[in-house]
Amino acid sequence: MLGRIKQWTAKFLSYAGRLQLIKSVLFAIQSFWSQIFPLPKKIIRGIDTICKRFLWTGETKNKAKALVVWKQLCWPKSAGGLNITDILIWNRAALIKHIWNIDKKKDRVWIQWIYTYYFKQQVVWNVKVKQAVWLTQKILCATKYLNEASIGIKEVMNMQEYSIRLVYDKLRGELPKVEWKRLVCNNIRNPKWIFNLYLAILGRLYMRDILLGWGIAICSDCSLCGRATESHDHLFFKCNYSTVIWRKLLQWLGITRDVHGWNDEIQWTVRHAAGKKQIYVIYRMLLACVVYYIWQERNWRTFRGTQRSCEELIRMIVQEVHCRGNLNFKVARKLQEFNFYR
Ligand SMILES: [Zn+2]
Repeated sequence: MLGRIKQWTAKFLSYAGRLQLIKSVLFAIQSFWSQIFPLPKKIIRGIDTICKRFLWTGETKNKAKALVVWKQLCWPKSAGGLNITDILIWNRAALIKHIWNIDKKKDRVWIQWIYTYYFKQQVVWNVKVKQAVWLTQKILCATKYLNEASIGIKEVMNMQEYSIRLVYDKLRGELPKVEWKRLVCNNIRNPKWIFNLYLAILGRLYMRDILLGWGIAICSDCSLCGRATESHDHLFFKCNYSTVIWRKLLQWLGITRDVHGWNDEIQWTVRHAAGKKQIYVIYRMLLACVVYYIWQERNWRTFRGTQRSCEELIRMIVQEVHCRGNLNFKVARKLQEFNFYR
């Protein structure tokens, strides 16, 4: 796995690109190794560490401050995560499948062997495992995970077909849903915009006020307007530069309201634009795009020394939204109504 990650020229990838690669590698592990063996905790911790470092730095050796803790990234999107597979829990769900197979006496040679050798007339869930070999012990002990998660053994035993995904979800437990889930899932936006919006919603874009708080000596002025200390609330959307952009883009969509502060903007979206209608899909796409390009402009001014005017940024955002929107027939048709930007 390390070999594969090292081959990728990951430094040139965005967070969203690296996330995709991590998901594909973890998918390979979960769908193969994790279903055959009980993975030792040390190995799982090692895999997690490599993936974490890779996500935040593009390297496997460098440590970096994680913007979001790994555990949360493994939650479903509806609960404020990014749906990365939790290998430990997946492995447990896969081990329980072995027990389910044994219980159903599914026609596999080794299961039949275990059955005749260890269980004789006993029920698999009740078997004492002290005398079994390590691998078998591990598998038979997996019932304890069901107990830990307060899942009835019978409930699993009665499943007609075993679904690792279903048991995985049960083992992980119900997680409270976040009200902004619609902003980060189910739409056609660019993954980079969504990842950036996700960090913004969690307040994990490191603004200058936070960096100063860590004792990093930098100028605290907002690089977009130069008139205030750069903070999350200032950039979205109290800053003159970003206010002008967001106001004009709202007008472009025919929405006549004032530009609010960040939390109120998110609340407004949750209340008024969380539905499935095309206009809401476009609105959410636009919000993600605006947040992405304002953050990019801030970074470019800081690290590249280049500058784009409000007008330039607005035109680019409108273009980008059209490009993405055209990937979906219904959205593209709706976008025709807003074809002209004045
Ligand atoms: Zn500013």
